[in-house]
Amino acid sequence: MSLTIVLDPGHGGEDPGAIGFDLYEKDLTLKICKRIVGELLRYQCNVKLTRKNDSAVSLRARAELANSLNADFFLSIHINSGGGTGFESYVYRQASETAIRYRSIIHSEVVSYLKQYGVVDRGRKKAGFAVLRLTEMPAVLLENLFIDSEKDTSLLADEPFMAGLSYSIALGIAGALSLPLKDNPWDPEWEMAQLLADKIINTPRVYDSQVNWGETATTLNRLRGVSPPLPSWNPAEEISLLLRDNIINTSRKPADQLLWGEFATVLNRLRKREVTSGLWDPAAEINALLADRLLFSTRDPAALVLWGEFATVLNRYRGVGG
Ligand SMILES: [Zn+2]
Repeated sequence: MSLTIVLDPGHGGEDPGAIGFDLYEKDLTLKICKRIVGELLRYQCNVKLTRKNDSAVSLRARAELANSLNADFFLSIHINSGGGTGFESYVYRQASETAIRYRSIIHSEVVSYLKQYGVVDRGRKKAGFAVLRLTEMPAVLLENLFIDSEKDTSLLADEPFMAGLSYSIALGIAGALSLPLKDNPWDPEWEMAQLLADKIINTPRVYDSQVNWGETATTLNRLRGVSPPLPSWNPAEEISLLLRDNIINTSRKPADQLLWGEFATVLNRLRKREVTSGLWDPAAEINALLADRLLFSTRDPAALVLWGEFATVLNRYRGVGG
């Protein structure tokens, strides 16, 4: 039985949380939580978010979600404000031994990461915050730096810092709950970093965001060394190059989402892997990826392709990674 972890990105929707230096607490908390989800993919566990986008969720609803899932751990992510600097963590005033132990492990992991940036450890604290009071499992709340501190926000606005912070929180969670690694650890963040490093994509993507056709065409064209004549990015032009070279037979709109049956088909055409000479069979196209070990578990042809998956399959195709 896998443990269930509920991650709670503080605030959202009409409630922006604290604001400072053009940063909104609600955006930063969501960003950190999504990155933690990506990091925890390597471990055997179920991870749920109390919100996945910029929506308003009451404090009670956040706790009730965790209670209804019978979650094993609840972690709320916030950014501090009010004229200080640094990091602090909270458990409930009457927290269980387990909650205190989990907090201690996570706190140490995060502080050891923050030390290299000279971030102050404000300590391990107790409070009566609603999400800590209303949750029935061990619960911890992290206040990650101050949004109204110029020094802190220069870090909060820095992507590599945020990635490292999220990684340290995930390590803390994994250590606290003794999460076992998956037998076949898959690291979509690493996969996407390889595409960035090799300039096959130019901007980072969130591992679980969907891939659209404009992005697909551009990526495939870069992989096959075909670039459109225009100096600035023109996704429609990228798609027309795929049409010209018979990698696709019908045009797509740049914003159309890429489906697994389509992705398998274009990749098979690109690598000149003949799957069927008859009618188009998207399931057979996916099976060819499985047979050639570009994919290790099957997909529904109508399912949307996510960036982490997309990067992984393309890396296997171009011989990068495991
Ligand atoms: Zn907050």
